[in-house]
Amino acid sequence: MANLGIPQNTIAVLQKYNFNFQKKFGQNFLIDTRVLDRIIESAEITGEDCILEIGPGIGTMTQYLAENAREVVAVEIDKNLIPILEDTLSEYDNVTVINDDILKVDINKIVEEKNAGKPIKVVANLPYYITTPIIMGLFESHVPLQSITIMVQKEVADRMQVGPGTKDYGALSLAVQYYAKPEIVANVPPNCFMPRPNVGSAVIRLTRYDAPPVQVNDEKYMFSLIRASFNQRRKTLVNGLTNAPELGLSKEKVTETLEKLGWSATIRGEALTLEQFAQLSNVLK
Ligand code: SAM
Repeated sequence: MANLGIPQNTIAVLQKYNFNFQKKFGQNFLIDTRVLDRIIESAEITGEDCILEIGPGIGTMTQYLAENAREVVAVEIDKNLIPILEDTLSEYDNVTVINDDILKVDINKIVEEKNAGKPIKVVANLPYYITTPIIMGLFESHVPLQSITIMVQKEVADRMQVGPGTKDYGALSLAVQYYAKPEIVANVPPNCFMPRPNVGSAVIRLTRYDAPPVQVNDEKYMFSLIRASFNQRRKTLVNGLTNAPELGLSKEKVTETLEKLGWSATIRGEALTLEQFAQLSNVLK
């Protein structure tokens, strides 16, 4: 099968199958061989690797993955793409396509079956409408993972990478940085896709830490503090935390804790580093 990274070849496949793009599935197919090469290179794929691809589309990146990895499992929600994938991937015997919603698939089971439970790599040009649930699902379900190399909306890539004191800093930055080291490896303009998205994109690699970079006694509790602080971004940390009923914290208790930590009583959650949220969580709990 011809290289689908070349626009004419993608057009030929779409015409052959009379394929209609489904906006609701975030379908923007890659048509740039340099971007595809860059993704494969950044994901550091070797002949030993088992790769999970989320949303293979017509199989463009899947071809590149199959050429470089030992094993590829691709999960695609759109049943209309399944016969196309059978065709475009027919020459590879190391690819398994699963027709399902990635948010419903038991990824741990795939890792067990295809990679004897050893860490896999995730590589994907993600459907942008569910970027955050996909990433958080992968981390929180503790799927054995080496890295996640993904194309996302540029603004979301920025949010994952930044620290305190910037407008993009938020719960997603802290969650990603607790589990992984983020690095933006390429910026990708809309003309590299068919159809063109309305936003710029970026490829980001998240390299999973063996152990989190901060020591926290109760992970779940720290993330509820983080969510409460950023739910009311413009409020002080004291108000943000005491306005979250699920935390059951009194103003006195929070003020006293801040004093104990030597922090200003008017500090805002958006000024705190991951390490400080861990500290706060350990003292409050
Ligand atoms: N990988 C292809 C490429 O780079 O050309 C397609 C990328 S396109 C941005 C996203 C793909 O994810 C589409 O094929 C879409 O049908 C699929 N998709 C959307 N939601 C999904 C879900 N919940 N589970 C699995 N695949 C999904």
